[in-house]
Amino acid sequence: MSFRSRLLLFFTIIVVVPMGAVALVLFSITSQSEIGKADARIAEGLRVAFAVYRQDRAEAVPQLRQIARQPALQKALGARTPAAARRQLARLLKAPVTSLALYDTKGNLVADAGSSPPMAPALAAPTTKRGKQFGSLAVSVVTASSFADTVAGLTDLDVRIFSRGRRLASTLNEGDANAKPTSGKVNINGKSFRGRFEELQEPVGPPVSVGVFTRSEGITASISQSRVLIGVILLGFLVLALVLSVFIVRALQGQIDQFLGAARRLSKGDFSTPVPTHGDDEFAALGQEFNKMSRELEAKIAEVESKRHELEDTIRRVGDAFAAGLDRQGLLELAVRTAVEACEADAGRALPIDARRMHSVHVGGSHDRLIRALTAAERNAFRIREENVAELLANLEPTTSDQPVEQHRPTSASIDGVHALAGPLRARIGAGSDIDYVGVISIVREGADFNETERDLFAYLVGQAAVSIENANLHETVQHQAVTDELTGLFNVRHFHDSLDNEIERSRRFNSAVGLAMLDIDNFKSVNDTYGHQQGDLVLVEVARCLRSLSRDIDEPARYGGEELAVILPQTDLSGAELLAERMRATIAALEIKRLDGKGTLKVTASFGVASLPESAGDKVSLIAAADAALYRAKRAGKNRVERAEPAAAAT
Ligand code: GH3
Ligand code: MG
Ligand code: MG
Repeated sequence: MSFRSRLLLFFTIIVVVPMGAVALVLFSITSQSEIGKADARIAEGLRVAFAVYRQDRAEAVPQLRQIARQPALQKALGARTPAAARRQLARLLKAPVTSLALYDTKGNLVADAGSSPPMAPALAAPTTKRGKQFGSLAVSVVTASSFADTVAGLTDLDVRIFSRGRRLASTLNEGDANAKPTSGKVNINGKSFRGRFEELQEPVGPPVSVGVFTRSEGITASISQSRVLIGVILLGFLVLALVLSVFIVRALQGQIDQFLGAARRLSKGDFSTPVPTHGDDEFAALGQEFNKMSRELEAKIAEVESKRHELEDTIRRVGDAFAAGLDRQGLLELAVRTAVEACEADAGRALPIDARRMHSVHVGGSHDRLIRALTAAERNAFRIREENVAELLANLEPTTSDQPVEQHRPTSASIDGVHALAGPLRARIGAGSDIDYVGVISIVREGADFNETERDLFAYLVGQAAVSIENANLHETVQHQAVTDELTGLFNVRHFHDSLDNEIERSRRFNSAVGLAMLDIDNFKSVNDTYGHQQGDLVLVEVARCLRSLSRDIDEPARYGGEELAVILPQTDLSGAELLAERMRATIAALEIKRLDGKGTLKVTASFGVASLPESAGDKVSLIAAADAALYRAKRAGKNRVERAEPAAAAT
């Protein structure tokens, strides 16, 4: 059921139901008033009947007087039989007298004459000639039927007269003469009448009931007439109400359709068409609210959209972080930028403690106010550290390097409405080393202080940055270890081979030379034997240091194995290699190596073999072999000398 039909039904109910009730009441009132009118007419008819009765009796009085003087009356009074008396009475009958009757002293009818039944008699008590009281003489000028006709003629109502259960007269054509005088609704000859009886006290004889009646049909007809009129008026109202309700429902429907349309547009993301708002009714207010809501929604969507872009940026940055991998500087910048954006700060920076490993980073504004607050927060961060030193020492426990580094909560500082947070970065600088402070990250904002969520987020980011930096450090260490000889700090033999491959590849591409010098410490076994293995190690360390100090930046000194060392000399031909090797040999021979037993110093020498590509060999294996062969020759020739490799053609 649609909204429209429900509204219509509602209107119909609230109009039709009360109208029905009103119609019922009006119908009942009209029928009662019509009956009342009929009853009033009946009462008036009865009054007329009584008046006519009194007048008839009054008219009978002079006739009575006249008759009283007539000799025939005495004869009648003196008559021996009722028949004789009746004859004498008949002689007295003369218009307008219609009937005469004699009653004895007990009220019994003795004799009568004239038309019957008589009504409204005048009464006298005559005496006989001898002065004896006879009874009473009744003289009437009307009969029951003439009385009824007179009253009917005056009132336009039907008249019925009854006495002692017998009908005396009626203007209606009635059949049965024996009937009771019933008031109210009666049925006569199949027709319905309404009327009322009243009793007349006759001066002599039984009482008489006079009734006046009117046809019920007339009352019913006028009732139906009024009802039709009322019905038509109510119907008119009903139609008017229905038309009005249709009009109102249409208007309401129109408004609702507008809202519906607007809501549908909103759901499709179209904010361009606001709901029209005319006037100042509730619909207009609703429309204004609706439009306000729509504007707010639009703003919210725009906000969500921009948040989405920010999120996209963040995701991209996380991607960058993956790409940056173990680039410490990149990670530090990323951490500061993300902290500034995620916490909606105005500026942020990272200050590393060791400037050789990382550079400081600054993001956002650099106004004095901001810097002051940043610096204050950073100082607080390190004050915590100082306070904690005692505590740390008191609770000193052996820690293994696998334990996660515990980060401190960020500290804060507020100066003149500028709020800053600072988080110290704690990390292991190398594998197996202790946790230490490597720097601090701080952010600053003017206006609102950072809330708990922002502080948590900031702490998280600082922690993550520290973890990343630590990972980068560890990675660097591991990488370094992978290519380094632990004792001497020179490149190991694996790296030596990789490097030599690369250099040979490069020399082929650029048509340049690669030199290689190999050396073996002379009589090293006897150092070990005489002073011990540790002294031998120290000799190795010192010789390696010597090689490193004499190498150019591009040269790569390596420990080839045992006490045999090698130096790759990029872009160096055989003569160049020989020159460098000679310098190294002389420097080693001049070394004063501290004796571990404290008894002065000892000296060592080394023998060198030098070769170069392409002069001495065509590939790596033969280059190494050539240098090795030269070294062997140097040993054979008496050690502590440099030998050149044979030219390539001769070598093969
Ligand atoms: P030559 O002059 O012929 O080279 O005589 P040499 O004594 O040096 O003889 P050789 O090269 O055969 O001896 C190498 C010795 O170096 C054997 C080994 O014990 C010792 N050595 C190898 N590596 C190390 C090391 O890392 N530390 C110590 N202390 N000794 C080492
Ligand atoms: Mg050797
Ligand atoms: Mg040796």
